Amino acid sequence: MTAIGIMGGTFDPIHYGHLRAAEEVRQGFGLERVVFVPSGRPPHKAAEEVTSPEHRYLMTLLATADNPYFEVSRMEIERKGPSYTLDSLRELRRLYSPEKALYFITGLDAVLEITSWNGYMELFDLADFIAVTRPGYSVQTLNDLGVHLGEERFSKIHPFPVTLLAISSRDIRRRVREGKSAKYLVPDPVMKYIEKERLYLSDPDRRVVRTGGPDFLA
Ligand code: ATP
Ligand code: MG
Repeated sequence: MTAIGIMGGTFDPIHYGHLRAAEEVRQGFGLERVVFVPSGRPPHKAAEEVTSPEHRYLMTLLATADNPYFEVSRMEIERKGPSYTLDSLRELRRLYSPEKALYFITGLDAVLEITSWNGYMELFDLADFIAVTRPGYSVQTLNDLGVHLGEERFSKIHPFPVTLLAISSRDIRRRVREGKSAKYLVPDPVMKYIEKERLYLSDPDRRVVRTGGPDFLA
C-alpha cells in the first residue's frame, strides 16, 4: 500500500522549515509523494493580511520544482469561499484510490489548533495526521488534545521529530519589510521572486491592501 503526504499551509512565503519537514516525513513514512496545498483564503487569517493566492502558489511551485516527489495543488486556490482542510481531504480522497493512505503533515503549532478547524471530527475519517516538531512547541502539549478528540482519533495523530528550524513566514515578511535579507531562509528562486514582485514591503499590521497577482495573470 502506498501513502500520500499532504502539506497544507498559507506559504506566505514558503521556506526551508516547510520543505525540510516535508522531505523528512516523506522519507520517514515512505510516502510516494507530498502534495503541497497552498490555502486560497485561510479562514484564520484576515484577507488583507495575506498575499494574493497566485503569488503564494507560484512561490510554492518555484520552491518545490526540483524535487521529483513534491507537487503543488491548486485545489484550494480554485475553490470559492474559505479554504477548509476538510474540503481538500474529501477531494483528495475522491482523487486517489481508497487503498492509498493520506497523511496530512502539520507543525505542532497548527495541530494544537485542530479543534478550531471546520468539521474537525470528520478529518480523522479521511486522513492520519503527522505532527512535526517546531521550535517553541513541545510534543507533551498534544496530550490535551486527546481529551477532546477521544482515544481513536487521537491515535491518528503521529508526532514526528524533524530537524528543528526556527524559521517562520512571519519573520521572513518582517525582515523583507525592514529591508533585511531573507537569503538562506527560503530557496533562492523564491527570494528572487519576492524581490521581483516587491512582496512584503508594506506593513500588514497597518492593513495595507495588496492588490493583483503576477502581471501575466492580470
Ligand atoms: P506564518 O508565520 O505566516 O504563520 P508559518 O511559518 O507558520 O507562517 P504556515 O504557512 O502558517 O507557515 O505553515 C504551514 C504548515 O507548516 C503548518 O502546519 C506549520 O505548523 C508548518 N511549519 C511552518 N514552519 C515550520 C517550521 N519551521 N518547522 C516545522 N513546521 C513548520
Ligand atoms: Mg503559521
